Amino acid sequence: MRRTLTVLSLAVSALTAGLFSTPVLADEQVLNLYSARHYPTDEALYSDFTKATGIKINRVDSDDAGIIARLKAEGSASPADLILLVDAARLWKGEVDGMFLPIKSKTLETAVPAQLRSKPTDDGTAWFGLSTRARVVVYDKLKINKADVDTYEELGDPKNKGQLCIRSGSHPYNLSLFGAMTEHLGPAATEAWLKGMVDNMARAPKGGDTDQIKAVASGECGIAVTNTYYLARLMRSTNPADKALVERVGVVFPNQDSWGTHVNVAGGAVARYAKNQANAVKFLEYLVSPEAQNHFANGNNEWPVVKGLKLDNPALNAMTGGNFKSEVIPISAVGMNQIKVQQMLDRVGFR
Ligand code: FE
Repeated sequence: MRRTLTVLSLAVSALTAGLFSTPVLADEQVLNLYSARHYPTDEALYSDFTKATGIKINRVDSDDAGIIARLKAEGSASPADLILLVDAARLWKGEVDGMFLPIKSKTLETAVPAQLRSKPTDDGTAWFGLSTRARVVVYDKLKINKADVDTYEELGDPKNKGQLCIRSGSHPYNLSLFGAMTEHLGPAATEAWLKGMVDNMARAPKGGDTDQIKAVASGECGIAVTNTYYLARLMRSTNPADKALVERVGVVFPNQDSWGTHVNVAGGAVARYAKNQANAVKFLEYLVSPEAQNHFANGNNEWPVVKGLKLDNPALNAMTGGNFKSEVIPISAVGMNQIKVQQMLDRVGFR
């Protein structure tokens, strides 16, 4: 009975739609967001935007690769209006594959430094960096001398044999770091370095960055690689177990005496087939407002892209002593090296 009713009502609505076939207007009060930001503290960011603008956010969560695959599959039928990705090379890939709609916004162009957004064309800018994170080395203060791990190169040095813990080589955070290294060292030296890291591993790659920090604290490995916000999260935790763990772990911002520490960017772009373009731009502009930028810094322990904001994050300040030297290389180069890097990883057996 229920089934019959449903079929009947569907038929009626189809009929009605046919009778009153006015063009469907994009709903100005909705924003369809595809997000790779996997940080629970971002919830406040979304709800504040809705509170301020009345625009409701429908969110699809996936990782960078999942979002790009989904956009490809959906093509021009994609409901996506705005895309948030958490890796420079993925942003670059999205742009190259034509997934983004270039936009012009004085607010965004003023707020986001040129090296942290895509190169503008006559159509506008394809994506904007919204926050940054550094990829740093953590080490067991009981076993390792800081001086033996203060460059990325030393992660592959035989003196660190059996010490290294790192997540999968194919994870975007590592692909971008290795892509940057390829820029700095050239492909041959980078491949030798990757091979050196495989030889130095304390265990096969597994888990996320936080798991690597925990493995250092438990003594399973002497050295690990992590994004800064994962460490900051543990440093700011009120859980006594996290506090004890952080006690044992030292942090280095590598390559301060050479090209600087590898920095990655999380950013946003308007989707190529966005139906709610104005809302998407409004949301991007909101994300560079002082409130939202402070949120990135204090909520998820990232660095704001907007200059001149006072960073009020005890963990980040403690980690860096206030400042550090970051590498300066074009993000497009990091992106273009990805395929080369993946082939090197296959050859040296870095899973
Ligand atoms: Fe992450």
